[in-house]
Amino acid sequence: MAVFCRNCGKSLADDARFCSGCGAQMQPPVAPPPYYYPTTTVTRLVRPRAGRMIAGVCQGLANAYAWDVVWVRVITVLLTVFGGGSGLLAYIIFWIVMPEEPLMFPPVVPPPPGVPPPPPYQPPS
Ligand SMILES: [Zn+2]
Repeated sequence: MAVFCRNCGKSLADDARFCSGCGAQMQPPVAPPPYYYPTTTVTRLVRPRAGRMIAGVCQGLANAYAWDVVWVRVITVLLTVFGGGSGLLAYIIFWIVMPEEPLMFPPVVPPPPGVPPPPPYQPPS
C-alpha cells in the first residue's frame, strides 16, 4: 500500500516518517477506535441484595440508570398515592420482571507462598 505525502503528494515508503520531497512529517496511521462493549454491570436491571427496602425494585432501577434512589422511591410512592395505585402496580410488575441479583462470593485467595495450607478438618473426638 503506497503512502502519499499529504503536503506535496509524493509517493513514499510505507514506513516513512518524513517526506523525502518536502520534509513534512508523516502522520502515523490512526488506529480505529476500539469497539465499545457495553458493560453489563452498569445497565443490568436486577434487584440488588444490598440497599433494598422491600424487594429492591427502586434500588435496582436507580443502579441501572444512575438515578438517585430517593427520588425513585418518592416518585413510586407519589404514583401509588396520587396516581391511582399505578406506582404500586409498576412496582409489582418490576418485582416480577426484574431478576434478583446473583449471589456474589468472595474470590478464593490461595495462601501466599511459604505458608503451609491449613490442616485438614479433624472432627472433635
Ligand atoms: Zn511532501
